[in-house]
Amino acid sequence: MCNKGEHQAAAPDRPLTREDFTSAQWQHLERCVALAEEALLAGDAPFGSVLVNAQGEVLREDRNRVNTVNKTYHPEIELARWAATHLDRDTRQQCVMYTSGEHCPMCSAAHGWAELGAIVYIHTTGQLTEWMQSFG
Ligand SMILES: [Zn+2]
Repeated sequence: MCNKGEHQAAAPDRPLTREDFTSAQWQHLERCVALAEEALLAGDAPFGSVLVNAQGEVLREDRNRVNTVNKTYHPEIELARWAATHLDRDTRQQCVMYTSGEHCPMCSAAHGWAELGAIVYIHTTGQLTEWMQSFG
């Protein structure tokens, strides 16, 4: 399903670092963190996502709103829904979704049904689970 464009090289078999990203990609990831912080400060869960087209333009961004809108308002599914409504199939397949956390099953399904391209996430669900357990 993933469209392997020039900007979508396969990830190496190790955790990625700042040096693995272009400055534009890093800015998208930093924006995800800022959106996650915005969500947290608004009383929602700390997740944010940015949808970028093949030309590197930000098409849409959103943050988690599970406490202020409804329990299914994850940014990833909202971006997938937006893309399915507003973008043609070729454009969707070339998009990259940058997101703070690995997609949950609901958002993974929406991403697949919308036929979006690559996903770049900052932390895995396993890491999140470990962090949540360490917080008590
Ligand atoms: Zn989700």
